[in-house]
Amino acid sequence: MRLLVTGGAGYIGSVVAAQLVEAGHEVTVLDDLSTGHADAVPDGARFVQGSITEAGDVLDGQDAVLHFAARSLVGESVEKPGLYWSHNLGGTLALLDAMHARGVRRIVFSSTAATYGEPERSPIQESDPTRPTNPYGASKLAVDTALTAYAGLRGLGAVSLRYFNVAGAYGRYRERHAVETHLIPNVLKVATGERESVSVFGTDYPTDDGTCIRDYVHVSDLARAHLLALGAAAEGEHKIYNLGSGTGFSVQQVISVCREVTGHEIPAVVGPRRAGDPAVLVASSAKIEHELGWKAERPALRDIVADAWAALSPNQ
Ligand code: UDP
Repeated sequence: MRLLVTGGAGYIGSVVAAQLVEAGHEVTVLDDLSTGHADAVPDGARFVQGSITEAGDVLDGQDAVLHFAARSLVGESVEKPGLYWSHNLGGTLALLDAMHARGVRRIVFSSTAATYGEPERSPIQESDPTRPTNPYGASKLAVDTALTAYAGLRGLGAVSLRYFNVAGAYGRYRERHAVETHLIPNVLKVATGERESVSVFGTDYPTDDGTCIRDYVHVSDLARAHLLALGAAAEGEHKIYNLGSGTGFSVQQVISVCREVTGHEIPAVVGPRRAGDPAVLVASSAKIEHELGWKAERPALRDIVADAWAALSPNQ
């Protein structure tokens, strides 16, 4: 297939772009490099540096778009909500209009567990209430709402994948954020010597060890789901799937596994809670398993951390 990957120079977008190229697809990456890296665009993909609002200039008979380009920092979204609404919702509406004008009728969208907000039960199912607690989640949920509307009004075929905690690496493709907020890369930065200690954001949550529980999914497994979603996108329908491993790990458990994998003592300092963090976020991925046959091949946290760690080694 001929495909446009927006945000294909970012962490998840670059892994998906790499897997698409490996599967024999013709891939164009559109990325403004605001947070991505040109060297993360896989060999074999065409690269266009630009905004998603310029997608109309790039779309040229593609079969589908895989849309990753977005602002994705919860804290920043609280400080600058307008940025999130304009980039994530406004930018995507411009992309959808460009797709409509160019006759591109299928999209796979990078959605998020942040659309659910504070869950009422665990694991979270797709039919559960969506009550985002920050502008990031709200802007992603608004796109999901628009996709449902455009499927009905314009016959768009859309699949939204709601990611839980994506981690790990795929060969040389790894997480590289200028401002790193995520747990696993921050813990590994202690092992590489870039940080002295990791902060544990709260130990008074209603969990066994008092720290937050999250569902970590390997970026390679997550990427594979996008290839399945492409095949499942059907005109006039908007499908929504959670993507996680179905198992939760606490912050303390993640740090322990990182210690085991790296052999580094990784000092941890307990700090206050981070605003807006739900105690437990675990996905039910039963729907995508049942409907698309997706299954995590590397669900073990140890493997996820080991792959992230290997990608940080200079030999990669
Ligand atoms: N966390 C932490 N220290 C850090 C980064 C994150 O204790 O340096 C905690 C955070 O409060 C959350 C969990 O680790 O409970 C996962 O956070 P992350 O930012 O990786 O993902 P999120 O669940 O917010 O999408």
